[in-house]
Amino acid sequence: MFKKVLIANRSEIAVRIMRTCREMGIQTVAVYSEPDRKALHVVEAEEAFSIGPAEPSESYLNIERIIDVAKAAGVEAIHPGYGFLAEHPLFARACEDSGIVFIGPPSQVIENLGNKTLARTMMSRAEVPVIPGMLEATTDTTLLQKEADAMGYPIIIKAAAGGGGKGMRVVSASSEMPDACVSAISEAEKAFGDPSIYVEKCLERPRHVEIQILADSNGNAIHLFERECSIQRRHQKIIEETPSPALSPELRERMGEAAVKVAKTSGYVNAGTVEFLLEPSGNFYFLEVNTRLQVEHPITELTTGTDLVRHQLEIAAGSPLSLRQEELLQRGHAIECRIYAEDPAADFFPSPGKIIGYQEPTGPGVRVDSGVYEGYEVPMHYDPILSKLIVAAENRELARRRMIRALEDYRITGITTIIGFLLDVIRSVPFSRGDTFIDFVQTHFSGWKPDKDLVRAAAAAYLVDEMLGAPQPQVTVSQAGYPTPWQSLGAWTL
Ligand code: ADP
Repeated sequence: MFKKVLIANRSEIAVRIMRTCREMGIQTVAVYSEPDRKALHVVEAEEAFSIGPAEPSESYLNIERIIDVAKAAGVEAIHPGYGFLAEHPLFARACEDSGIVFIGPPSQVIENLGNKTLARTMMSRAEVPVIPGMLEATTDTTLLQKEADAMGYPIIIKAAAGGGGKGMRVVSASSEMPDACVSAISEAEKAFGDPSIYVEKCLERPRHVEIQILADSNGNAIHLFERECSIQRRHQKIIEETPSPALSPELRERMGEAAVKVAKTSGYVNAGTVEFLLEPSGNFYFLEVNTRLQVEHPITELTTGTDLVRHQLEIAAGSPLSLRQEELLQRGHAIECRIYAEDPAADFFPSPGKIIGYQEPTGPGVRVDSGVYEGYEVPMHYDPILSKLIVAAENRELARRRMIRALEDYRITGITTIIGFLLDVIRSVPFSRGDTFIDFVQTHFSGWKPDKDLVRAAAAAYLVDEMLGAPQPQVTVSQAGYPTPWQSLGAWTL
C-alpha cells in the first residue's frame, strides 16, 4: 500500500478521502489555492502546499504545478476526487508519465469514455441500450437540424465533450433548433475547447438511475447496485437515494449486468459509475460513465457496508478486488442531501460568504461529509457545495423521516443554504411516495419560497435578540430580499 498520497482537490471530498487514508496509515498531502489557505482540507492533511491563486486554471487545474508538488512531497499516488482534474485524461497521463499512480482508470479509458459520442458508439456495439440519437458529433447545423427533425421533438442537444450540463439544450420545436445549436456550440467551445455537439431523443419523465462499479487491473468487475438521482436542479443532482423506489429485483439485476458489461467493454479499472436513464416503462438507456468517485458515493457505502475510497486505493496499488458480487447485499435505505450555499428562491444562485454559526446534526444513522466549519468564509470561486448530509435506516420511510429530523437539526447561519428547500422536498407527498423523475423540481417546486411563518419567527427572534443586546450574527438577506428561516433558528432560538 502507498505510504503517502496527494489529494488534488478541495473541500468535503478532499477531507473525506483523507479520512480513509488516515485509517489505512497513509500520509496525506493537500494542495490549496490562495483563498483556501484556511480550508478544512488544509487543516486535515499532514502536509499542505500552496498551488496558486483562486482562479482554478491557475491552481486546482494546473497539472504541471500539482505534479511538481507531488514530486517535491514524495507521494506515490494522487487521488483526484471529483470535478477539477478527476476526468481529465491529460492529468492521468501526466501522472503515468511521472511514475505517480493516478487513483482512477487509465488515461486512455478516461479519454474514450469522456467523449459522449465515442462512448455511445462503444456501448451500442456491445449491445448496451443507448438513448436513440446521433453517434457522431458535429458543428454542421444543417445536419443537426435534419437529424432532429427526423427524430421528432423534443430532442436534447449535448456537447460531445460535455459535463456539468454545459452545452446541453432541450429543444421542443424545429424552429428553435438554429439558435439552440449556435448557443450550444459556443458554450461547448468555451467550456471544453471542443465545439462539436449532437442530438438525442429527449426522454419523457425518466428517472436518473446509476450503477456503482468497481473493477481491478486483472479484469474483474462488479457492481454495487444502484443510486437514484432524479431530484435535480439545472440537470444537476441535489438529492440521491438507494435503493431506487423504481427497481424490481429483476430490473436491478439487468441494470447491474449492463453496468458490468460497460466496465468490461471499456477496459475499466478502479471505481466508476455507469449512468442510465430509466423510463416509466422499465426501458433503460446508457447515459454516460463517470470515471471517478461520485459526490453521492456515501449512500452506496452505507447500504453495502463498504468504503469505496479504500477499494480505490487498493485497486490503484494493484491488489485484486477483495469483494465478490455474490457477497454484496443492499441493506436498508440511504438518502443523501447536498447542502449547497445557494438561494433556492432565486433560481439557486450561489450565495457564498462567512459562516457565522455552524452545527451539524448527529444521532443514529447520520453521516455528514463536510468541508466547512464555523467562522469559515465560503469562497466564491468554486462549486458552492458545503457538505453532504447522508442518513441510513431500515427502510425508505424511516430514512426519509430521519432525513427530516437531521435537516431540521442542521444549523448554518450567516449564509443562505438550500436546507429549507430540501426539507420541503423530502416532506412532500410525491417524494414520500417515491414518485420521482428528473423534472421533479420544476414540476412541483418552481417558484418555491421559504415558509412565511418560519421567516416571521426568524425575524422576531432576531429583533428580540437585538432588544436584549445579544451578540448579533450577521444576517445575509437572500436574493429574494428576506433572511431565510433556517439561518436564524439556531443561534437565535429563544
Ligand atoms: P452532463 O454530463 O453534462 O452532466 P448528462 O448526459 O449526464 O450531462 O445528463 C445530465 C442530466 O440531464 C440527466 O441526469 C438528465 O436529468 C438529463 N438528461 C440527459 N439526457 C437526457 C435525455 N436524453 N432525455 C431527458 N433528459 C436527459
